[in-house]
Parts: sequence; structure tokens; C-alpha cells
Amino acid sequence: MKFAVCINHVPDTATKVHVGPDGKSIEKTGVNYVISPYDEYAVEAALRFKEKQSGEVIVLSWGGDAHKESLRKALAMGVDKAVLLKDDSTRDSFGVARALADYLRELAPDVILFGKQSVDYDDSAVGIMVAEMLGLPSAAVVVSMEITGGTAKADREIEGGHEVVEVQLPAVFTIQKGAYEPRYPSLKGIMAAKGKPIEERQPAPMEAKVETITMVKPPAKQAGKIVGTDVGAVPELVRLLHEEAKVI
Ligand SMILES: Cc1cc2nc3c(=O)[nH]c(=O)nc-3n(C[C@H](O)[C@H](O)[C@H](O)COP(=O)(O)OP(=O)(O)OC[C@H]3O[C@@H](n4cnc5c(N)ncnc54)[C@H](O)[C@@H]3O)c2cc1C
Repeated sequence: MKFAVCINHVPDTATKVHVGPDGKSIEKTGVNYVISPYDEYAVEAALRFKEKQSGEVIVLSWGGDAHKESLRKALAMGVDKAVLLKDDSTRDSFGVARALADYLRELAPDVILFGKQSVDYDDSAVGIMVAEMLGLPSAAVVVSMEITGGTAKADREIEGGHEVVEVQLPAVFTIQKGAYEPRYPSLKGIMAAKGKPIEERQPAPMEAKVETITMVKPPAKQAGKIVGTDVGAVPELVRLLHEEAKVI
């Protein structure tokens, strides 16, 4: 069985991000980049399926050379092949989905996995767009899955509960934190990944349908107010919560 996993290379959530001088993109200097965390769950899911029932896991990423770092990490985790859809142009989610879908059509995997959301632009759009472009069934926000023959049963997280759905393969899944806690690459895996090639493809050019006009950081939080340090402060605290904060 062939598994494809789409991974994005994003700023580490622990990194302090600043808006760049153009006012519509982030300042990239000094930012540490990682595989988008939900995409790491997707890589782990594919590796577990492969280990259980054999097959091949291919990871792909659209972007510039910097994305090779995340592709190499996936190789170190144990995937078989990494592909960079190399492009330094500006693309919105639709453009990224188009590049991925064009390559996936040719690759024809049985299972296509995405993270539920990329933790940079947070659209939760690319995976489902790719499913539409390829005319494949999809299940989003999946916390665990089973594959039997040509059928997949997926447990989806929904508001206040879970929903179990069944789809015929080939199909697209977007993975949420759940059953697939990612493994740490072993030293052997890291060493082996250094020597593995990363295939490069040139996606067809495409104009962005969405243009970023401006990017701003949220206003700085106001300093906290200390109302008092003993029980005598409680009436004033209650009054402020009621009249100022309006939360009680
Ligand atoms: C106007 C505009 C211009 C942009 N220009 C650039 C640019 O020039 N360079 C750049 O790097 N980013 C650019 N971005 C950001 C880029 O579109 C996003 O990083 C990427 O598409 C993810 O977007 P998202 O948050 O909507 O993903 P989501 O829809 O939240 O992602 C869902 C899943 O799709 C998969 N996925 C997302 N992105 C990729 C990817 N690149 N490769 C493989 N799989 C992926 C992952 O599995 C991810 O978990 C731009 C965004 C906008 C709106």
C-alpha cells in the first residue's frame, strides 16, 4: 500500500514571531522552523500503517530549499522517500493545494495524509482542497484510523464527541492529535537520512488567488492589577469582575 504524507515547514510554536518590514509577512531571521506538529502526527500514522501491513511512505512538501530540513527529519523518522515541490514563489493555500494535487495525481497513493492544520496560516484548507481537486473522499480531524483491505475506518473528533466514518480508498485524511504520538528519530535513522536523496520537482507556476494586505500582531496585554493580598480584597475583586471585566 502506498502512503503519501504532505508536510509543511513552519515556525516553531515556541519561537517569537515578528512582522517583517513589508508589513505583510513574518520576519524570517532568527526563526526556528520545524515540521508542522499535526503533520508529524500524520507521518507517524503512515509509519505505523506501513509497519503493520507493509508498504511505502512518501513525504512531500511545497516550498523553498528550507523545507528540506523538515523532509530530512521525516526521513530520519523512517519514511522511504521525500519529495520537494520546489518553488520560491508566493502561493496561497489554493496554490499549495494545486501543486500537491498535481504531483499526487501522478503518484497515485492509496492513502493521502495531511495535518488537520498548518500552524502558520491556520487555514485547515489544503488537505480538503486536494481531496476535491483529485475527486477523492476525505475525512477531516481524524484521531485514529484502521485500514482493512481497500477500506478505512476513521475516528473523527467533533464538538463534544467522536464520529466514526468509513471510506473506500484511495482517500484523503487530515490528522488531529490523538493516537499517533510521533516517535523521536533514532541516531541510526538520523545518520541514514543524511545520505538519502530528496527528489526535487518543479510545480507548474500559478498566480495566487488571495493577496495578503497586512499582517499585525495582537495588541500587547495590559499589566495585571493587584487588588489586594488578603481576604479583605475579595469584595473589591468581586466588584471589579462584575463591573469592569463583566465576567460574573
Ligand atoms: C497570500 C499568501 C501568500 C503566501 N505566500 C507564501 C510563500 O511565498 N511561501 C510560503 O512558504 N508560504 C506562503 N504562504 C503560506 C502558505 O500558503 C502556507 O504556509 C501553506 O499553504 C499552509 O497554509 P495553511 O495554513 O492554509 O495550511 P492548512 O490548510 O492549515 O494546512 C493543512 C495541511 O496541509 C498540508 N500543507 C500545508 N502547506 C503545505 C506545504 N507547503 N507543503 C506540503 N503540505 C502542506 C499540511 O499537511 C497541513 O497540515 C502564503 C499564504 C498566503 C495567504
